[in-house]
Amino acid sequence: MDTVVQQYLERYGVSEATRRFLAKPQKMFIGGRWLESGDGQFFDSVEPSTEGVITRIPAGTVDDLDHAVAAARAQFDGGQWRRLKPLERERLLHRLADLIEANAIELAELEAIDMGKSVASARDVDIQGTVDTFRYFAGWASKLHGRTVEPSLPGNYLAYTRKEPIGVVGAIVPWNFPLQTMAWKLAAALAVGCTTVVKPAELTSLSTLRFAELVQEAGIPDGVVNIVTGRGSVVGAAMATHPGIDKLTFTGSTPVGRNVGRAALDSIKRVTLELGGKSPVLVLDDADLAAAARAVANGVFFNSGQVCDAGTRAYVHRSVYDAFLDELIAYTATLKIAPGLDPDCFISPLVSALQKDRVVSYIDTGRREGAELVHGGHALQGPGYYVEPTIFAHCRNDMNIVREEIFGPVLVTAPFDDIDDALAQANDSPFGLAAAIYSNDLGRVHGLIPRLHAGSVYVNAHSTIDPAMPFGGFKESGFGKDLGPEQLDHLMETKAVWITLP
Ligand code: NAD
Repeated sequence: MDTVVQQYLERYGVSEATRRFLAKPQKMFIGGRWLESGDGQFFDSVEPSTEGVITRIPAGTVDDLDHAVAAARAQFDGGQWRRLKPLERERLLHRLADLIEANAIELAELEAIDMGKSVASARDVDIQGTVDTFRYFAGWASKLHGRTVEPSLPGNYLAYTRKEPIGVVGAIVPWNFPLQTMAWKLAAALAVGCTTVVKPAELTSLSTLRFAELVQEAGIPDGVVNIVTGRGSVVGAAMATHPGIDKLTFTGSTPVGRNVGRAALDSIKRVTLELGGKSPVLVLDDADLAAAARAVANGVFFNSGQVCDAGTRAYVHRSVYDAFLDELIAYTATLKIAPGLDPDCFISPLVSALQKDRVVSYIDTGRREGAELVHGGHALQGPGYYVEPTIFAHCRNDMNIVREEIFGPVLVTAPFDDIDDALAQANDSPFGLAAAIYSNDLGRVHGLIPRLHAGSVYVNAHSTIDPAMPFGGFKESGFGKDLGPEQLDHLMETKAVWITLP
């Protein structure tokens, strides 16, 4: 570990457990064993506020992936996991949830150190969300069933359906909510009896490797969960075509997701794609402007804007546009920019130098395109990949900063004249992940909800996520759902059984 990172951890007094974990050589978790990559290669994991190296992560190879898929396959085909009594599987998943909860501080610290995010939000959102997701799906293990059917066909039959786990599930995970997104993929898969191979994002593998230790401690059989760290272009790409993987669940950007989906379909894998977003926010003229401004700022700047369903396009009724911008700017100016381990941090550094450069280049594009910069607009002097929360006014829907996902703390805004104009601007996007409405006029709100092309609609709120509610996009934001009972159907095959009766 670089000295700057050591000093950073000392300054904020991270837990002894976190120090111990970071001092260990990191290994992949395959078939219940801890392994280096087959060719002994590593890559560095970098702490985003100091730019110092935290530790080295094994750069998994295609052979390592084969090994992991073989372990998952052997457990699925001949092992005990899918044959456990449902209540036993449920009990083990609850035990895992309890262990995650018991180690929440350490996991939140790892998330903050590895990804750069606020440790407080990592604890309250990422890790709590992970615990909740495992608890919610643990309960489903004992509540899965098919149905019996009375056929109209001549003859006498017993006809029924069986729900069967799909098999080996490959999960490719992004870096913005590393553990929570992994939980969104794993918890349901494990509950229905699937086995899994997970590839965390190369920028943020640490919490997933610590999670693997908890999987072992919980007594979940070897081969049920396998973690292969490594590059997307190597391990991820090989997962998409791997014949031993029955279902691929991918969360990440739309361009990568498109290629992954195409490759997966070649072998007719089942696929879920949770992709990018550029979610619109409508502020109607009756909204409580101060409350809406706070919520809109939180909805776009949370996690420094590195949130798939961030409300990045705000369309505001012309009659309140200027007053809303004043409130928004005043509130945004109060958000503390600080390293992730600072307990009061709201705007943390972005995950990497590449991401910072990408966001800064979009801000430059916005200026060139003629959008009016009304707040922020700069990267901070290093070290640290900080970008100020940035607000553009009077944007047009043909600007790149309005059409493309920036994935950083950048909000574009524009006025609208009436509801049809607001809807036309909101729906004019290739993405359809989420949308938000700020208004207290229930009639207008209910009229708008069915007309918004989005997988989630938030009213007077943003990114309210719960494991009981499905999450997933329309249009180029992907297909399939994570969370909610809806996810279970994407992880099970339905078998139709016909028995001729005498
Ligand atoms: P990314 O697409 O670059 O990477 C996502 C994952 O795919 C990583 O694990 C990466 O290693 C892997 N990958 C990269 N190249 C690959 C390839 N050729 N084949 C297979 N896998 C490959 O995305 P990111 O930068 O990690 O995450 C940010 C993106 O994720 C944003 O677009 C964001 O909107 C999206 N996201 C979507 C959701 C959702 O639920 N819809 C949630 C979180 C993030």
